[in-house]
Amino acid sequence: MKVLVLPGDGIGPEIVAQAVRVLEKLQADGLPLELQHAPLGGAAYDQYGSPYPDFTQKLAREADAILLGAVGGPQYDTLDRPLRPERGLLAIRKDLNLFGNLRPAILYPELAGASSLKPEVVSGLDIMIVRELTGDIYFGQPRGIRTNEAGEREGFNTMLYSESEIRRIAHVAFGIAMKRNKKLCSVDKANVLECTEFWKEIMIDVAKEYPEVELTHMYVDNAAMQLVRAPKQFDVIVTGNIFGDILSDEASMLTGSIGMLPSASLDQNNKGLYEPCHGSAPDIAGKNVANPLATILSVAMMLRYSFAQEDAAQRVENAVKKVLAQGFRTADIYEPGTQKVSTTGMGDAVLAAL
Ligand code: NAD
Repeated sequence: MKVLVLPGDGIGPEIVAQAVRVLEKLQADGLPLELQHAPLGGAAYDQYGSPYPDFTQKLAREADAILLGAVGGPQYDTLDRPLRPERGLLAIRKDLNLFGNLRPAILYPELAGASSLKPEVVSGLDIMIVRELTGDIYFGQPRGIRTNEAGEREGFNTMLYSESEIRRIAHVAFGIAMKRNKKLCSVDKANVLECTEFWKEIMIDVAKEYPEVELTHMYVDNAAMQLVRAPKQFDVIVTGNIFGDILSDEASMLTGSIGMLPSASLDQNNKGLYEPCHGSAPDIAGKNVANPLATILSVAMMLRYSFAQEDAAQRVENAVKKVLAQGFRTADIYEPGTQKVSTTGMGDAVLAAL
């Protein structure tokens, strides 16, 4: 179980340090984890002049799973685009062919007040959005801005999915549904877009291999509406790149707390890059106030999806639930009546709960 740790920039090193303490505790308890560290993003540019240097690339290719903090910061915003930290993130995702993006939206009952929706609508919410990450209109050719025959300028993109691309993300989604409540909702716009009509056809075909999973279909406009009307009707959602981009952000905001949400991006063999959904939060970097729980929960996802260590994954998730129940809160989720703790203080509490 080779894990490459990429602390990144801003709050990245602070939050990753707490997640590494969790990994080291599991290691001490017998899990055969091997940890290595490398820079990515701005930190890599500072050290090697590139946001995804060869040194990091070699270790990333050799690793079984990767834990990332976040990249980016205002000091890098004036660099040439290919040198910017965000390019390092796109480069590693592409290099490792991480096509399956897993974005859970979980609302712990203790934090129901943080959501903009009524507590009874969202309390206990637990959705997994599976987003295809390397195809669709974001990558389809041809694309561009041109002048048409009538002499008018026009912009155009191509929504494109090959059968193999749909099949492989379908298998990821059905596999996850099998590990959860065996309910999968495929989101499309099959009434208007042939590309997603084809998506739906392949989903139905793959479903034959998972007879235990109940597959349903929903148009994306309705899905956007249902997510704010009655989000608890969903368990696992699978969708393409552009719909997933929008719906996963919508779903994560239901929880009201960006510091709590982990994510995973997987390849064909369940090798994965695990990271919190939030960015490098330069406004609070170096102050020991950032919430490390999204990164710690990313470790739980790593244990579950790359290492098939369900018990260890639950142990980490239960530790997080316990510290919330005990009333420990970092500043971003603090409410009167709870106990405010620092980044390291939250790490201490999770370690104790573990
Ligand atoms: P952000 O997610 O970094 O911050 C948004 C707000 O949420 C800020 O007020 C921040 O303080 C707060 N926040 C974020 N994470 C938190 C945590 N763990 N605990 C407490 N508060 C937290 O988004 P942004 O401000 O738009 O971007 C800042 C930088 O991060 C930019 O350089 C951007 O490019 C980069 N970014 C990186 C990633 C990534 O690495 N995957 C993702 C998004 C943004």
